[in-house]
Amino acid sequence: LFAQTCDFVAGADNAGALPPMTLPEIAFAGRSNVGKSSLLNALTGRKALARTSQTPGRTQQLNFFDLAHRLQLVDMPGYGYAAVGKDKVTAWTKLAQDFLRGRASLLRVYLLIDARHGLKPVDHETMDVFDRSAISFAVVLTKADEVKQMDRDAVCERTETDLRRHPAAFPTVLLTSSETGLGIPAMRGGIVQLMRE
Ligand code: GDP
Repeated sequence: LFAQTCDFVAGADNAGALPPMTLPEIAFAGRSNVGKSSLLNALTGRKALARTSQTPGRTQQLNFFDLAHRLQLVDMPGYGYAAVGKDKVTAWTKLAQDFLRGRASLLRVYLLIDARHGLKPVDHETMDVFDRSAISFAVVLTKADEVKQMDRDAVCERTETDLRRHPAAFPTVLLTSSETGLGIPAMRGGIVQLMRE
């Protein structure tokens, strides 16, 4: 499935622009700069599927990619950039809710969290959106290579404890690094498994 064709399908900045639900879908969300583009590229074996380091706060849209005509990947806009005011936060929430509402093709959202920083209040706000929409989501800790080996278990445990208050959260977190490839095969395996369920 991975390392096969992966093509841009559509971008959507409002409910009316969403592409039809023709394939099962998996969405990726996280704060700006969390490493989402890098992770998408690592997963798909592409160099520039999602452009890395997009200017934070620019036009927010959902980007849809077709993976081998079997799965649609949805790159949600980054949220929580400091220079972005409350209006933009609301815009993110509105777009997310418009997408999540009745998106029967959506199997799961992967919520990316920087392993160095852990869960921030804005991440809990995002998880509240997923809870309200009853969209199951799994937390992926990114940039694990930046965390000392001896601290990694503690970061995972602390995050899992904090996740217990979110009913839509998958109880265990994934630890990844796009830099070293840590956790990437496991994540691919989880996605394939999800498609079989
Ligand atoms: P996005 O804004 O969430 O799409 O984040 P990007 O993928 O553009 O990454 C933001 C910054 O984090 C860039 O400078 C990346 O090089 C860096 N980065 C992304 N993934 C990793 C990782 O696994 N390890 C390290 N050390 N840096 C990473």
